[in-house]
Amino acid sequence: MKEELAEKGGNFIEQIIRNDLESGKAKKVITRFPPEPNGYLHIGHAKSICLNFGLAEQFGGDCNLRFDDTNPTKEETEYVESIKEDVAWLGSRWANLRFASDYFDEFYKWALELIEAGKAYVDHQSADEIRKTRGTLTEPGKDSPYRERPITQNMKLFRKMEEGDLPEGECVLRAKIDMAHPNLNMRDPVMYRILHQSHHRTGDKWCIYPMYDFAHGYEDAIEGVTHSICTLEFEDHRPLYDWFLDNVSVPHRPRQYEFARLNLSYTVMSKRKLLELVAKGYVSGWDDPRMPTISGLRRRGYTPSSIRTFCKKIGISKANSLVDVDLLHHCIRNELNLSAQRVMAILRPLKLVIENYPEGQFDELEALNNPESDKPVYRKIPFGRELFIEQDDFMEDPPKKFFRLFPGAEVRLKHAFFVKCTGFEKDAKGGVVEVRCTYDPKSRGGESPDGRKVKGTLHWVSAPHAARAEIRLYDHLLTLRDMDAMEEGRDYKDYLNPASLEKLTDCMVEQSLVNARPMERFQFLRHGYFCADYEHSAGRPVFNRTVSLKDSWAKEMKKED
Ligand code: ATP
Ligand code: MG
Repeated sequence: MKEELAEKGGNFIEQIIRNDLESGKAKKVITRFPPEPNGYLHIGHAKSICLNFGLAEQFGGDCNLRFDDTNPTKEETEYVESIKEDVAWLGSRWANLRFASDYFDEFYKWALELIEAGKAYVDHQSADEIRKTRGTLTEPGKDSPYRERPITQNMKLFRKMEEGDLPEGECVLRAKIDMAHPNLNMRDPVMYRILHQSHHRTGDKWCIYPMYDFAHGYEDAIEGVTHSICTLEFEDHRPLYDWFLDNVSVPHRPRQYEFARLNLSYTVMSKRKLLELVAKGYVSGWDDPRMPTISGLRRRGYTPSSIRTFCKKIGISKANSLVDVDLLHHCIRNELNLSAQRVMAILRPLKLVIENYPEGQFDELEALNNPESDKPVYRKIPFGRELFIEQDDFMEDPPKKFFRLFPGAEVRLKHAFFVKCTGFEKDAKGGVVEVRCTYDPKSRGGESPDGRKVKGTLHWVSAPHAARAEIRLYDHLLTLRDMDAMEEGRDYKDYLNPASLEKLTDCMVEQSLVNARPMERFQFLRHGYFCADYEHSAGRPVFNRTVSLKDSWAKEMKKED
């Protein structure tokens, strides 16, 4: 959690950049955010986006959005569009929009350069054989029987690969580095493989496609990237990144730096798993509000600034850790506490009849929209004989310290009056269907008329004025806090939370809420923060709970701030 703070302040990457600018090693900072368009972005990507775009902005440089689309099998235009939308929504502005596939000609040229220098060869071993002869951490690998074939033959074969004369799997192009290298990534890694597949941008122009490790540094070199920032699992790939750059005539020499990826509690972040959840219908789509995707968080009611605040709070370090999702909740809660209008909504309605309030008459009361805002704004809310309150705000036979309604008890109705419970009615099955009470007209506005006190304040809506709404409550997608600590032999899907979505279809909300704009945010008193869903309309109001009101982080953060 703690940021790694160095002498001049800022995280360790800021330190490196500052030094590079001071020493003249870098003139202008160029970073990039390089997603593979094989899925939607998630909150982990947001960390990388905030870092890369943030550094460029901080140091007066540029950050490119570059699609790392070197693998034609899993990549799609839908993903490209969603990624652009999400990056822009987060508030990041790319200097250039680029695609790795724009550089396929250059990659090919550099591959030829390596072959010509005797530093790459065509290998006819199968993928399986290549894996088996790679060796282990304690044993060196075995040289391929094709390793020493002459340069001219390699040239000819690689051209044949490129021209489409060879079937998939027939051979690959490998770097000729060292099969006994202590770093397994350096044991003659594959550079190109044959794939007779159409690419979302280059169509059928190519039937050989470059591997990530081979291509990535060149992409950075072409774009003049100064600081190529990636996650820790690429640390062991850095020698290879350097080797590819040092052995051909690149126009610019970028450097790679690694930081710890974000892991969040009670969720998974691998795109493969998120794709599976979508494809198999465990969730309603990539933007299901339970998903850790940017589009899911957006639909859940998160703001771009709350996500940026979260990324700032978690900081950048070199040690992998698990961040508690409560911190994310804390960030949006803090923000909406100040900005969201407070309204009343009944999730599970129970009729409350005020016996001494005349039938057919209504009153208009004043309600303060947000006591936290500088300028108090009031709205009018109707009050009458029949109201709805929450089912669990009444108990026939309550335990001690139940400060809500029960026979004989007096409570305050928020913004309205004191009411005292006089009785209740049950249906044939014994369920309470109506609560009866009297009100004290002298307690208007919820003020005590004579100094007598009540312990509970309930929210309510006027029954004839309220609008029916669907309200969706969310819980964690998965039941295990640390999905990396999953028991062996289990699948992450074994931990799917069956109660992650609760749809309440008979809720009663203030009438004005039917006119909410999709994505407009509110605090529903005592229930938390909600936003109108994309599917919301005046005819069919739908709200999603962003987060409840409980904040386990507030104390924690106070200590740190
Ligand atoms: P996955 O393993 O789920 O496919 P990925 O890392 O391959 O994810 P990319 O599209 O390649 O996904 O990621 C784009 C950038 O975002 C990379 O620089 C990557 O390091 C970074 N990134 C991905 N996941 C995280 C994360 N959890 N935390 C921080 N950065 C991340
Ligand atoms: Mg990747």
